[in-house]
Amino acid sequence: MALATHSGFMSRLQQRLEAHGRQGLVRHKLLREGPCAAVQRFGQHERVSFCSNDYLGLANHPAVIAAWQEGAARYGVGSGGSHLVTGHCRAHQALEQALAEFTGRERALLFSTGYMANIGVINALMHEGGVVLQDALNHASLLDGGWLSRARSIRYPHNDMQALADLLVQHQQDPCLIVSDGVFSMDGDVAPLPEMARLATAHGAGLMIDDAHGIACLGDRGRGVIELFPEHSGRGNVLTARELPVLVGTFGKALGTAGAFVAGDAVLIEYLEQFARSYVFTTAMPPALAVATLTSLRVSQDESWRRERLQLLIRRFRQAMADMAFPVLDSHSAVQAVVLGDVDTTLAASALLRDHGLQVSAIRPPTVPRGEARLRITLSAVHTDTQFDQLLQALMVVNDRFIASRSRSANASH
Ligand SMILES: *Cc1c(COP(=O)(O)O)cnc(C)c1O
Repeated sequence: MALATHSGFMSRLQQRLEAHGRQGLVRHKLLREGPCAAVQRFGQHERVSFCSNDYLGLANHPAVIAAWQEGAARYGVGSGGSHLVTGHCRAHQALEQALAEFTGRERALLFSTGYMANIGVINALMHEGGVVLQDALNHASLLDGGWLSRARSIRYPHNDMQALADLLVQHQQDPCLIVSDGVFSMDGDVAPLPEMARLATAHGAGLMIDDAHGIACLGDRGRGVIELFPEHSGRGNVLTARELPVLVGTFGKALGTAGAFVAGDAVLIEYLEQFARSYVFTTAMPPALAVATLTSLRVSQDESWRRERLQLLIRRFRQAMADMAFPVLDSHSAVQAVVLGDVDTTLAASALLRDHGLQVSAIRPPTVPRGEARLRITLSAVHTDTQFDQLLQALMVVNDRFIASRSRSANASH
């Protein structure tokens, strides 16, 4: 009898997988050999990667690798415990202090991943009876954090400040937390932070920004989205903790390592240290990783040419796309999205780019809304001019094959 129940369980999984397959939504892992670099090897094929989040080329930086090795030699490989027991090492402490300084906040707190930071922070800050106001395009980890907290989650239309204002009025009596990506991970555009800060203050709501894709990349000094609004900025030319009390950043993107942090006033950090379950009930990140990340943060500041190079490639990319009338979303970050709509076309375009020696991901539902499948092209400071031109050439072919032909046939049928 137990066996029968068990096979029923497995066949339900099987059915769901098959349905997923019929919709063209099954995803396959690529098996990569070697480091995350501009050219990556998958089995026998070498391709130029335009899909890593290593925007500054720090994941394979000699100084960062050396720091990791020195950290391991000094601390061993595992932290051996959670932060509140005995896992918290001097290396973690030093990184937290550097991040607090970097973001112009009183304190910072480390988490093992961005996903864990987001679920831990929202879950700690919000409870039943509260309202979490989420941008419709927020990262899955923010949405999950909202659900986990048992507060009511409401999604407002992407960057729609009128809708957000209306919701704040409607929930004036409830504890509210506004939550948003800083740079939207699949679109590349930026949240209107000054207006969000104004609304949050006016309505006594909290404001939390996840700047996974902005930290180390955006702003002259790489402070991310908090550095993008100089006319609204306070001390240090960044939006301060008064305007933006809860700032999350991650290390797995532009800083090239792994892990995350939350920065804010001392009260916020003390509170999270006590109540964020994904902080309390997990092993502290390996101290060597903290040593490597501290080095990576320093390199990202010292080698400002990386940010400048990235910005140059972004400008050149956007100019080229405008010249081709290519349907690229409005983004000034390293994330450049070409929305092709249906899943099959997007997969075919990605395959065509692969034939041209380029690795570009096809992003499909549920990562993006249905009907908005896209190529997500990410640029990195370490792409050479030749590699970049190779991308533009191949996109011209994609344009010809999948986009220009579509508008030609649309015109013909009118
Ligand atoms: C990647 C990402 C995360 C998750 O961070 P990890 O450190 O990879 O877990 C969270 N938020 C956004 C917006 C991201 O893009």
